[in-house]
Amino acid sequence: MKKINSNGYGHRFLLLAALFLAGIPACLAILRWALPGADIGAWILASRIVGGGILLSLAILLLIEFRQDRRLAKAHEKTRRSRAPLRGGGCECQACGNRRVTERDAACALCGTRFESL
Ligand SMILES: [Zn+2]
Repeated sequence: MKKINSNGYGHRFLLLAALFLAGIPACLAILRWALPGADIGAWILASRIVGGGILLSLAILLLIEFRQDRRLAKAHEKTRRSRAPLRGGGCECQACGNRRVTERDAACALCGTRFESL
């Protein structure tokens, strides 16, 4: 499953939901005030239902994203005290990203993490 990251579009969902929940109903209410005979109540309700659906969609996406983040954090925690081999030789500390670690180092010189063998 693709990793969801709502940082790029979460605010757009919120703006769109606000538009359908408050902006459009406010404009329709003004229209109803200007045209007393027009039956606009159903359109206001429809706009609020669409806005609620958009908010519900965002909530579901956020729940999925938080679950994915939790799973990634657990996977990282398992390998945090290890060193990953680099293509050009040497290793990288998985706790801090220090790339000046060798296979023989027992601990990272930068963050002090003691390496475990996996
Ligand atoms: Zn380190």
